Amino acid sequence: MAAQREWFEKDYYRVLGVSESASAKEIKSAYRKLSRQYHPDANPGDAAAEERFKEISAAYDVVGDADKRKEYDEVRRLGPAAAGFPGGGAGPGGFTFTDAGDLGDLLGGLFGRGRRGGGARGGGPHRGQDLEAELHLSFHDAVAGVTTAVHLTSDAACSTCHGSGAKPGTSPHRCGTCGGAGVVSDNQGLFSLSSPCSACAGRGVIIDEPCTTCRGTGVERRPREVKLRVPAGVTDMQRIRLKGRGGPGRNGGPPGDLYVIVRVALHPIFGRKGKDLTLTAPVTFAEAALGADITVPTLADGPVTLRVPPGTRSGRTFRVKGKGVPAAKGAGDLLVTVEVAVPSKLSAAERKAVEALQAASNGESPRAHLGV
Ligand SMILES: [Zn+2]
Ligand SMILES: [Zn+2]
Repeated sequence: MAAQREWFEKDYYRVLGVSESASAKEIKSAYRKLSRQYHPDANPGDAAAEERFKEISAAYDVVGDADKRKEYDEVRRLGPAAAGFPGGGAGPGGFTFTDAGDLGDLLGGLFGRGRRGGGARGGGPHRGQDLEAELHLSFHDAVAGVTTAVHLTSDAACSTCHGSGAKPGTSPHRCGTCGGAGVVSDNQGLFSLSSPCSACAGRGVIIDEPCTTCRGTGVERRPREVKLRVPAGVTDMQRIRLKGRGGPGRNGGPPGDLYVIVRVALHPIFGRKGKDLTLTAPVTFAEAALGADITVPTLADGPVTLRVPPGTRSGRTFRVKGKGVPAAKGAGDLLVTVEVAVPSKLSAAERKAVEALQAASNGESPRAHLGV
């Protein structure tokens, strides 16, 4: 389906009285309502109504069809300038498209190339594709940072010819037809229409003896290992951009980027809260009530002693400075939350002691403030 030149001029959303972000359902219901209202059967002999009815039908024909709507939105987003037309948009002082010749064909070509993702056939240099790869890290490596590698299989510069496409020992030479531009221009009055050079298939160079590994494309799909330094403190789902490590550029274009998506494993005892690490440390009722020095682990530096003051309530959090996520300035802390452990079984002696404690509290209820 080729784009129509009217697409620049007509706002089909406005015709249907819906917003550009309207859902397919909203568009359908707007169309139904309007088409009933302006239907020739309902307005016999009313030429204006008939014109409106045609307009509504034409609008719905495009934006009522998911594929056509997508293309229509794209045409309107890019605007005429992007389609290679001088003068920018239509309108006062600008350029109108009534003389534009076969705009549909031209846009068809433009979008055709776009859909191939900047493939090898288009004229001029194309930037390589951006790629994504997942990297699974242990909790510790994510906190401390690590030098590691991601593995992915993707298009890459051919390892035999290093991307030139020419057999080793030979080299490509510049295309004489297009002078290396990859495109040829055809002047048609106001417009200079460019199309990919057929002599070199838009590459700008001619390869006499193609590389046998990549058959002259300069691109080879193969497993790759990309080394990277993961900084300290990365979080789950964080994206790390490796500039220029994506797909290879075509026709001398720059390579794309590689986005590494970090997946961080959970730790059996530590958690993360931004730059701080978290840890839950059970204490006995006696430790909480009388106070105690307890030993807790840190992720990287071995155990530390934490002073729990007398009368500490369950759920209170203590901060161990500098034992969180490392950073050049201002490392995170370790947040230790103490939790009074209630034994599920008591020995006879323990039971006696707890009963004695209960008796000693003189029936004072900790729920007195609840008023019941
Ligand atoms: Zn090759
Ligand atoms: Zn050429």
